[in-house]
Amino acid sequence: MDRLKKIAIIGLGLIGSSIAHATRRGKLAAEIAGHDASTDVLERSRVLGFCDSLHDDVAGAVKNADLVILCAPVGAYKAIAQQIAPHLKAGTILSDVGSVKGAVVRDVGPFVPKGVNFIPAHPVAGTEFSGPEAGFASLFDGRWAILTPVKGAKPDAVQRLKSFWQALGSQVDVMDAGHHDLVLAITSHLPHLIAYNIVGTAHDLEKVTQGEVIKYSASGFRDFTRIAASDPTMWRDVFLNNRDAVLEVLGRFNEDLSQLQRAVRNGDGKTLFDLFTRTRAVRRAIVEIGQDTPSFGRLPFQVYVPPKKDGTEKSKKKSTARKNPLSKPRGKTERRRAK
Ligand code: NAP
Repeated sequence: MDRLKKIAIIGLGLIGSSIAHATRRGKLAAEIAGHDASTDVLERSRVLGFCDSLHDDVAGAVKNADLVILCAPVGAYKAIAQQIAPHLKAGTILSDVGSVKGAVVRDVGPFVPKGVNFIPAHPVAGTEFSGPEAGFASLFDGRWAILTPVKGAKPDAVQRLKSFWQALGSQVDVMDAGHHDLVLAITSHLPHLIAYNIVGTAHDLEKVTQGEVIKYSASGFRDFTRIAASDPTMWRDVFLNNRDAVLEVLGRFNEDLSQLQRAVRNGDGKTLFDLFTRTRAVRRAIVEIGQDTPSFGRLPFQVYVPPKKDGTEKSKKKSTARKNPLSKPRGKTERRRAK
């Protein structure tokens, strides 16, 4: 792809910072501009140094950019679109990374100025961590990025965005937003809902079992806790914005669960064995096509060590995983919501 003059990344958390790192790795843009609503995140991004320019006003970040990517939680997109619309130049590609696509077309579409190419997108890559320290350049390597161009999108702009995601390391698919939302409801959104639910139930049981659920947590439960550690703001917005598709697959899930419940009650070993055999084959197929390895998308990342209060010690970067991602709300918005 042709080198971009300027890319603007709005929202500098896990996905935004990873795009910045991968853009720099591939020398894909002369300038990487960043904006975040949180001054704390902006300061931490400055220390980490993955952007060439950081802006506390979103208009300054998008000015003269040839590619603008919204990387904030989906619930914030409408307000951001309203703010940036007057500052986008003709020919710019406006895209995003939101985990739902129909709602993005609904919320952003009406504000897109004539001459701007609006092409929603979703990298199917991520971890349970959040914030600018969580990002890394190889997050998208070998993963899928899905583009959902709106009706009338210019084919050459779609091709340019496709080349950009390929240069970030991704394989690219194109589909319509509705289909995306249904597919992701079953592969991503429902598994998260189940993980949040099972960990919530176990946490409630903790009071009855006096700590034994956590103490004896078997690997199955531990895997669920990893998924259930995912960012609360982001996932709240996903379920609020993909309601119909999630309810559809949840209905089907409940029917299948009832069948399993019957099989357990009736001692129907054949039904259980047949299902477990089928699901084992699904897992093997995923591994065989290279969509999971022990470290896939779960690399350690840098942890921000804030400067001492007297200012004598500078911020340091440490290459180690965050000890407890559930321990405390990180960003300003999250802290506000946790109150
Ligand atoms: P994240 O690490 O929490 O980063 C989001 C950042 O956006 C935070 O720094 C947040 O600040 C900031 N923000 C909130 N409102 C904003 C606004 N109005 N303007 C500018 N910045 C704002 O979240 P993430 O995991 O990178 O997710 C970002 C997007 O990627 C979401 O739309 C999500 O659906 C999508 N996505 C996520 C994954 C994943 O696995 N995490 C995978 C694919 C796609 P505060 O912290 O102060 O709120």
